[in-house]
Formats: sequence, structure tokens, C-alpha cells
Amino acid sequence: SVMAYDPQNIFAKILRGEIPCTKVFENEWVLAFHDIAPQAPVHVLVIPKGAYVSQDDFTAKATDAEIAGLWRAVGQIARDLEVAEPGYRTVQNTGTNGGQEVPHFHVHICGGRRLGRMIP
Ligand code: 5GP
Repeated sequence: SVMAYDPQNIFAKILRGEIPCTKVFENEWVLAFHDIAPQAPVHVLVIPKGAYVSQDDFTAKATDAEIAGLWRAVGQIARDLEVAEPGYRTVQNTGTNGGQEVPHFHVHICGGRRLGRMIP
């Protein structure tokens, strides 16, 4: 079972405009903004506008349109930021073992340098 969504999490506050972010993209499905502690020259977080704790929650409850909207946006943002060539990485941490820190589903887009491999 999925933990309850905490409307006081930091990304919920960003979505409500209660704390600032450096927005790079927004549409009806997602908000995207620069990570506060970038791990690459481009490090953007893409979050659904819906209240989903994690990838687990998102894939269990989101509509096909929300899921498509999120992944279409990830691709569009990478192209807009000119990392699609020569490439980038998406990272998505889920839950305790996944090392997820903020309990609002998000996809990291990292690019702008050659990234080391996590999986050999
Ligand atoms: P996670 O470990 O949950 O996958 O990633 C959370 C990410 O959110 C981290 O990369 C962290 O630097 C970023 N982050 C945490 N708090 C804030 C914030 O207040 N603003 C922004 N822009 N990023 C944040």
C-alpha cells in the first residue's frame, strides 16, 4: 500500500506557488524546474500536477493522459534544453530503498556532461 500524500511536502508548496522555483516548463500536466542542488550542468525536476507520492502511486492511480503527459513533457524539456543530443539521463527514485527524499513523484533530467554509470 502507498503512503498518504502529504500536502505540506516541498514540491506541493512549489506547485501552489508558496515557495519559489526556477521554472523551465509548465503545461496542464507538469511543472518542471531546476534542482536546487544540481548534479550535472542540466538538472531539472519534472513533477506531475496531480498529488502522487511516488512512481508506485503514480502508476497505480494516474490516468493514461497524466502518464503520457508527464513522459511527453520529459522528452520535450530535454529537447528544449538541448540535452537530447548527445543525450541525458532520467532518474526516478522510489521509496525508502530507492532513496526518494521528496514525497511527490518526480523525474530527474540530468545532462550536459558525460555521466558515470550506476548499472555496469
Ligand atoms: P529525490 O532524492 O527525492 O529523488 O530527489 C529530490 C531532489 O529534490 C533532490 O535532487 C534535491 O536537490 C531537490 N530539492 C529538494 N528540495 C528542493 C527545493 O526546495 N527546490 C528545488 N528546486 N529542489 C529541491
